[in-house]
Amino acid sequence: MAAGKNPSDSALAAIVSSPDFDGELSSLADRKRREVYSDEVYLRGLIEISSYCRNNCYYCGLRAGNANALRYRLSKDEILEVCKEGYGLGFRTFVLQGGEDPSFTDSFICDVVSSIKKLYPDCAVTLSIGERDYSSYKAFFDAGADRYLLRHETADEKHYRMLHPESMSLQKRKECLFALKEIGYQVGSGFMVGSPYQTVDNIVADLRFLQLLSPDMIGIGPFVSHWSTPFKDFENGSALLTVRLVSVLRLLFPHSLIPATTSLATIGEEYRKKALISGANVIMPNLTPLKVRKKYELYNRKLSSSLESAQAVEQIKAMLTDIGYRAASSRGDVKRPDN
Ligand code: SF4
Repeated sequence: MAAGKNPSDSALAAIVSSPDFDGELSSLADRKRREVYSDEVYLRGLIEISSYCRNNCYYCGLRAGNANALRYRLSKDEILEVCKEGYGLGFRTFVLQGGEDPSFTDSFICDVVSSIKKLYPDCAVTLSIGERDYSSYKAFFDAGADRYLLRHETADEKHYRMLHPESMSLQKRKECLFALKEIGYQVGSGFMVGSPYQTVDNIVADLRFLQLLSPDMIGIGPFVSHWSTPFKDFENGSALLTVRLVSVLRLLFPHSLIPATTSLATIGEEYRKKALISGANVIMPNLTPLKVRKKYELYNRKLSSSLESAQAVEQIKAMLTDIGYRAASSRGDVKRPDN
Protein backbone atom coordinates (compact mmCIF):
# COMPACT_ATOMS: atom_id res chain seq x y z
CA MET A 1 0.00 0.00 0.00
CA ALA A 2 1.67 3.20 -1.16
CA ALA A 3 1.26 6.56 0.58
CA GLY A 4 -1.12 9.04 -0.96
CA LYS A 5 -2.82 6.35 -3.03
CA ASN A 6 -6.46 5.57 -2.42
CA PRO A 7 -6.83 1.81 -2.24
CA SER A 8 -10.15 0.20 -3.14
CA ASP A 9 -12.51 -1.01 -0.43
CA SER A 10 -11.53 -4.59 -1.16
CA ALA A 11 -7.81 -3.78 -0.91
CA LEU A 12 -8.38 -2.07 2.44
CA ALA A 13 -10.53 -4.95 3.63
CA ALA A 14 -7.75 -7.39 2.74
CA ILE A 15 -5.20 -5.37 4.73
CA VAL A 16 -7.37 -5.14 7.84
CA SER A 17 -8.53 -8.76 7.67
CA SER A 18 -5.24 -9.95 9.07
CA PRO A 19 -4.37 -9.09 12.65
CA ASP A 20 -0.65 -9.95 12.31
CA PHE A 21 2.15 -7.42 12.49
CA ASP A 22 3.28 -6.50 8.97
CA GLY A 23 6.90 -5.33 9.01
CA GLU A 24 6.79 -4.01 5.45
CA LEU A 25 3.65 -1.95 6.07
CA SER A 26 5.13 -0.65 9.31
CA SER A 27 8.37 0.46 7.57
CA LEU A 28 6.46 2.17 4.76
CA ALA A 29 4.39 4.08 7.31
CA ASP A 30 7.46 5.03 9.34
CA ARG A 31 9.18 6.34 6.22
CA LYS A 32 6.14 8.49 5.48
CA ARG A 33 5.92 9.88 9.03
CA ARG A 34 9.63 10.78 8.93
CA GLU A 35 9.15 12.63 5.61
CA VAL A 36 6.50 14.86 7.20
CA TYR A 37 7.32 14.89 10.93
CA SER A 38 10.96 13.71 10.98
CA ASP A 39 11.80 11.76 14.14
CA GLU A 40 9.81 14.01 16.46
CA VAL A 41 7.15 12.70 18.82
CA TYR A 42 4.78 15.23 20.34
CA LEU A 43 3.89 14.94 24.01
CA ARG A 44 0.49 16.08 25.28
CA GLY A 45 -0.36 16.50 28.94
CA LEU A 46 -3.70 14.78 29.48
CA ILE A 47 -5.92 16.22 32.22
CA GLU A 48 -9.06 14.20 32.90
CA ILE A 49 -11.29 16.96 34.20
CA SER A 50 -14.48 15.04 35.03
CA SER A 51 -15.59 11.44 35.37
CA TYR A 52 -19.27 12.41 35.22
CA CYS A 53 -21.11 11.72 31.99
CA ARG A 54 -24.74 12.08 31.02
CA ASN A 55 -24.45 9.42 28.29
CA ASN A 56 -24.69 5.68 28.38
CA CYS A 57 -22.38 4.27 25.72
CA TYR A 58 -22.50 0.52 26.34
CA TYR A 59 -18.71 0.11 26.29
CA CYS A 60 -17.66 2.87 28.68
CA GLY A 61 -16.96 2.71 32.39
CA LEU A 62 -17.95 6.36 32.84
CA ARG A 63 -21.48 5.79 31.50
CA ALA A 64 -24.19 7.43 33.62
CA GLY A 65 -25.79 4.05 34.35
CA ASN A 66 -22.65 2.63 35.96
CA ALA A 67 -23.51 2.90 39.64
CA ASN A 68 -20.06 1.50 40.50
CA ALA A 69 -18.18 4.36 38.83
CA LEU A 70 -16.22 6.68 41.09
CA ARG A 71 -17.04 10.26 40.22
CA TYR A 72 -15.07 13.49 40.53
CA ARG A 73 -14.72 16.77 38.76
CA LEU A 74 -11.76 19.14 38.94
CA SER A 75 -12.11 22.79 39.93
CA LYS A 76 -10.59 25.56 37.88
CA ASP A 77 -7.83 25.93 40.46
CA GLU A 78 -7.03 22.22 40.33
CA ILE A 79 -6.83 22.33 36.53
CA LEU A 80 -4.54 25.36 36.61
CA GLU A 81 -2.39 23.68 39.24
CA VAL A 82 -1.76 20.65 37.03
CA CYS A 83 -1.10 22.91 34.03
CA LYS A 84 1.58 24.63 36.13
CA GLU A 85 3.12 21.29 36.94
CA GLY A 86 2.85 20.15 33.31
CA TYR A 87 4.43 23.35 32.02
CA GLY A 88 7.33 22.82 34.38
CA LEU A 89 7.73 19.29 33.07
CA GLY A 90 7.95 20.68 29.53
CA PHE A 91 4.46 20.07 28.17
CA ARG A 92 3.26 22.62 25.62
CA THR A 93 -0.16 21.09 24.95
CA PHE A 94 -2.82 20.46 27.56
CA VAL A 95 -5.66 18.12 26.68
CA LEU A 96 -8.74 18.70 28.83
CA GLN A 97 -10.78 15.54 28.59
CA GLY A 98 -13.95 14.45 30.35
CA GLY A 99 -17.33 12.86 30.07
CA GLU A 100 -20.27 14.97 28.92
CA ASP A 101 -20.66 16.67 32.27
CA PRO A 102 -23.58 19.14 32.31
CA SER A 103 -22.03 20.89 35.33
CA PHE A 104 -19.29 22.21 33.11
CA THR A 105 -21.09 25.21 31.68
CA ASP A 106 -19.85 27.07 28.64
CA SER A 107 -18.72 29.96 30.80
CA PHE A 108 -16.74 27.63 33.08
CA ILE A 109 -14.95 26.01 30.14
CA CYS A 110 -14.29 29.40 28.50
CA ASP A 111 -12.91 30.73 31.76
CA VAL A 112 -10.58 27.75 32.19
CA VAL A 113 -9.40 27.88 28.58
CA SER A 114 -8.73 31.61 28.57
CA SER A 115 -6.94 31.38 31.92
CA ILE A 116 -4.62 28.66 30.63
CA LYS A 117 -3.92 30.64 27.45
CA LYS A 118 -3.20 33.79 29.47
CA LEU A 119 -0.79 31.99 31.79
CA TYR A 120 0.86 29.90 29.07
CA PRO A 121 0.50 31.69 25.72
CA ASP A 122 3.01 29.34 24.11
CA CYS A 123 0.79 26.32 24.82
CA ALA A 124 -2.04 24.75 22.86
CA VAL A 125 -5.28 23.75 24.55
CA THR A 126 -7.16 20.73 23.30
CA LEU A 127 -10.70 20.03 24.43
CA SER A 128 -12.29 16.60 24.48
CA ILE A 129 -15.58 17.02 26.28
CA GLY A 130 -18.04 15.52 23.82
CA GLU A 131 -20.98 16.83 21.88
CA ARG A 132 -22.03 20.46 22.37
CA ASP A 133 -23.95 23.06 20.37
CA TYR A 134 -22.25 25.02 17.61
CA SER A 135 -22.44 28.16 19.74
CA SER A 136 -20.60 26.42 22.60
CA TYR A 137 -17.85 25.15 20.32
CA LYS A 138 -17.52 28.66 18.89
CA ALA A 139 -17.32 30.20 22.37
CA PHE A 140 -14.56 27.76 23.43
CA PHE A 141 -12.65 28.53 20.24
CA ASP A 142 -12.99 32.26 20.78
CA ALA A 143 -11.75 31.75 24.34
CA GLY A 144 -8.56 30.28 22.89
CA ALA A 145 -9.09 26.52 22.46
CA ASP A 146 -6.96 25.31 19.57
CA ARG A 147 -7.95 21.69 19.06
CA TYR A 148 -10.91 19.41 19.69
CA LEU A 149 -10.98 15.62 19.92
CA LEU A 150 -14.24 13.79 19.29
CA ARG A 151 -13.93 10.18 18.21
CA HIS A 152 -16.76 9.00 16.00
CA GLU A 153 -16.13 5.40 17.28
CA THR A 154 -17.94 3.84 14.32
CA ALA A 155 -19.15 5.39 11.07
CA ASP A 156 -21.76 2.72 10.39
CA GLU A 157 -25.31 3.54 11.47
CA LYS A 158 -26.25 -0.04 12.34
CA HIS A 159 -23.05 -0.66 14.26
CA TYR A 160 -23.38 2.68 16.04
CA ARG A 161 -26.79 1.59 17.32
CA MET A 162 -25.29 -1.59 18.77
CA LEU A 163 -22.82 0.48 20.79
CA HIS A 164 -25.04 3.37 21.88
CA PRO A 165 -28.57 3.84 23.23
CA GLU A 166 -31.37 5.51 21.26
CA SER A 167 -30.73 8.85 22.94
CA MET A 168 -27.46 9.18 21.00
CA SER A 169 -27.07 9.73 17.28
CA LEU A 170 -24.28 9.14 14.80
CA GLN A 171 -25.69 11.92 12.65
CA LYS A 172 -25.30 14.37 15.53
CA ARG A 173 -21.75 13.18 16.16
CA LYS A 174 -20.83 13.74 12.52
CA GLU A 175 -22.48 17.17 12.51
CA CYS A 176 -20.41 18.13 15.55
CA LEU A 177 -17.21 17.09 13.80
CA PHE A 178 -17.96 19.15 10.70
CA ALA A 179 -19.02 22.11 12.87
CA LEU A 180 -15.68 21.96 14.70
CA LYS A 181 -13.86 22.01 11.38
CA GLU A 182 -15.90 24.93 10.11
CA ILE A 183 -15.14 26.94 13.24
CA GLY A 184 -11.41 26.47 12.68
CA TYR A 185 -10.26 23.94 15.26
CA GLN A 186 -7.59 21.37 14.57
CA VAL A 187 -10.00 18.45 14.73
CA GLY A 188 -9.38 14.91 15.89
CA SER A 189 -11.56 11.87 15.42
CA GLY A 190 -11.08 8.12 15.48
CA PHE A 191 -12.58 4.79 16.37
CA MET A 192 -12.31 1.65 18.48
CA VAL A 193 -10.72 -1.43 16.97
CA GLY A 194 -12.42 -4.71 17.78
CA SER A 195 -15.48 -3.19 19.42
CA PRO A 196 -18.36 -5.66 19.86
CA TYR A 197 -20.08 -6.59 16.59
CA GLN A 198 -17.52 -4.71 14.47
CA THR A 199 -16.94 -6.15 10.99
CA VAL A 200 -14.12 -5.60 8.51
CA ASP A 201 -16.58 -3.57 6.41
CA ASN A 202 -17.23 -1.34 9.43
CA ILE A 203 -13.50 -0.59 9.65
CA VAL A 204 -13.38 0.24 5.95
CA ALA A 205 -16.36 2.57 6.49
CA ASP A 206 -14.46 4.22 9.36
CA LEU A 207 -11.50 4.89 7.06
CA ARG A 208 -13.79 6.28 4.36
CA PHE A 209 -15.51 8.55 6.85
CA LEU A 210 -12.15 9.84 8.00
CA GLN A 211 -11.24 10.57 4.38
CA LEU A 212 -14.42 12.62 4.09
CA LEU A 213 -13.71 14.50 7.32
CA SER A 214 -9.98 14.87 6.70
CA PRO A 215 -9.10 15.34 10.39
CA ASP A 216 -5.85 16.75 11.73
CA MET A 217 -5.63 14.12 14.46
CA ILE A 218 -6.72 10.49 14.40
CA GLY A 219 -6.87 8.40 17.56
CA ILE A 220 -7.60 4.70 17.45
CA GLY A 221 -7.35 2.15 20.20
CA PRO A 222 -8.38 -1.43 20.80
CA PHE A 223 -11.69 -1.94 22.55
CA VAL A 224 -10.94 -2.85 26.16
CA SER A 225 -13.89 -4.12 28.17
CA HIS A 226 -14.97 -2.63 31.49
CA TRP A 227 -16.19 -4.91 34.28
CA SER A 228 -19.26 -2.82 35.07
CA THR A 229 -20.77 -2.21 31.62
CA PRO A 230 -23.14 -4.17 29.36
CA PHE A 231 -20.08 -5.21 27.31
CA LYS A 232 -18.16 -6.66 30.25
CA ASP A 233 -17.99 -10.14 28.73
CA PHE A 234 -16.73 -9.15 25.30
CA GLU A 235 -13.15 -9.87 24.33
CA ASN A 236 -10.69 -7.02 23.98
CA GLY A 237 -9.82 -5.80 20.50
CA SER A 238 -6.57 -6.82 18.86
CA ALA A 239 -3.57 -4.64 19.67
CA LEU A 240 -1.73 -5.88 16.59
CA LEU A 241 -4.63 -5.03 14.30
CA THR A 242 -4.66 -1.57 15.90
CA VAL A 243 -0.95 -1.18 15.11
CA ARG A 244 -1.57 -2.32 11.56
CA LEU A 245 -4.34 0.27 11.27
CA VAL A 246 -2.01 2.98 12.60
CA SER A 247 0.20 2.24 9.58
CA VAL A 248 -2.77 2.33 7.21
CA LEU A 249 -3.81 5.67 8.69
CA ARG A 250 -0.31 7.11 8.33
CA LEU A 251 -0.25 6.14 4.65
CA LEU A 252 -3.75 7.45 3.97
CA PHE A 253 -3.22 10.60 6.06
CA PRO A 254 0.50 11.45 5.93
CA HIS A 255 -0.01 14.81 7.69
CA SER A 256 -2.21 13.68 10.56
CA LEU A 257 -1.16 13.58 14.19
CA ILE A 258 -1.64 9.98 15.27
CA PRO A 259 -1.20 9.00 18.92
CA ALA A 260 0.02 5.71 20.32
CA THR A 261 -2.99 5.46 22.63
CA THR A 262 -3.29 4.48 26.28
CA SER A 263 -5.56 1.54 25.49
CA LEU A 264 -2.79 0.04 23.35
CA ALA A 265 -0.28 0.40 26.16
CA THR A 266 -2.84 -1.02 28.60
CA ILE A 267 -2.90 -4.25 26.60
CA GLY A 268 0.90 -4.30 26.57
CA GLU A 269 3.71 -1.72 26.77
CA GLU A 270 5.29 -3.26 23.67
CA TYR A 271 2.30 -2.17 21.57
CA ARG A 272 2.92 1.49 22.32
CA LYS A 273 6.41 1.10 20.89
CA LYS A 274 5.12 -0.89 17.94
CA ALA A 275 2.63 1.89 17.14
CA LEU A 276 5.40 4.49 17.33
CA ILE A 277 7.60 2.61 14.89
CA SER A 278 4.58 2.05 12.63
CA GLY A 279 3.46 5.63 12.00
CA ALA A 280 2.26 7.10 15.31
CA ASN A 281 3.83 10.42 16.33
CA VAL A 282 2.05 11.52 19.52
CA ILE A 283 1.83 10.29 23.10
CA MET A 284 -0.42 11.69 25.79
CA PRO A 285 0.97 11.10 29.28
CA ASN A 286 -1.43 11.60 32.15
CA LEU A 287 -1.26 14.81 34.21
CA THR A 288 -4.50 14.26 36.13
CA PRO A 289 -3.98 14.78 39.89
CA LEU A 290 -2.91 11.48 41.45
CA LYS A 291 -5.65 11.59 44.09
CA VAL A 292 -8.36 11.14 41.40
CA ARG A 293 -6.45 9.53 38.52
CA LYS A 294 -7.61 5.98 39.24
CA LYS A 295 -11.24 7.11 39.21
CA TYR A 296 -11.20 7.89 35.49
CA GLU A 297 -11.82 4.28 34.60
CA LEU A 298 -12.93 4.13 30.98
CA TYR A 299 -12.08 0.43 30.82
CA ASN A 300 -10.45 -2.32 32.90
CA ARG A 301 -6.96 -1.68 34.27
CA LYS A 302 -6.58 1.56 32.30
CA LEU A 303 -2.93 2.48 32.56
CA SER A 304 -2.19 5.76 34.35
CA SER A 305 1.21 5.18 35.92
CA SER A 306 4.67 4.30 34.68
CA LEU A 307 5.23 5.59 31.11
CA GLU A 308 1.60 6.71 31.03
CA SER A 309 2.32 9.26 33.72
CA ALA A 310 3.43 12.80 32.84
CA GLN A 311 5.74 12.73 35.86
CA ALA A 312 7.71 10.03 34.04
CA VAL A 313 8.64 12.41 31.25
CA GLU A 314 12.34 11.63 31.48
CA GLN A 315 11.65 7.90 31.16
CA ILE A 316 9.36 8.60 28.21
CA LYS A 317 12.11 10.58 26.49
CA ALA A 318 14.58 7.76 27.13
CA MET A 319 12.13 5.21 25.70
CA LEU A 320 11.73 7.36 22.58
CA THR A 321 15.49 7.71 22.12
CA ASP A 322 15.80 3.98 22.58
CA ILE A 323 13.53 3.27 19.61
CA GLY A 324 14.95 5.98 17.34
CA TYR A 325 12.82 9.06 18.00
CA ARG A 326 13.00 12.22 20.06
CA ALA A 327 10.48 14.12 22.14
CA ALA A 328 9.66 17.48 20.56
CA SER A 329 9.62 20.55 22.77
CA SER A 330 7.18 22.52 20.58
CA ARG A 331 3.39 22.55 20.93
CA GLY A 332 3.24 20.16 18.00
CA ASP A 333 0.67 21.56 15.62
CA VAL A 334 -0.48 19.65 12.59
CA LYS A 335 1.62 20.14 9.45
CA ARG A 336 -1.05 20.45 6.82
CA PRO A 337 0.16 20.07 3.22
CA ASP A 338 -0.91 23.67 2.51
CA ASN A 339 1.00 25.13 5.52
S1 SF4 B 1 -17.69 7.20 25.81
FE1 SF4 B 1 -17.73 9.36 26.37
S2 SF4 B 1 -19.86 9.98 25.99
FE2 SF4 B 1 -19.88 7.74 26.10
S3 SF4 B 1 -20.32 7.28 28.26
FE3 SF4 B 1 -18.08 7.33 28.05
S4 SF4 B 1 -17.46 9.40 28.57
FE4 SF4 B 1 -19.67 9.41 28.16
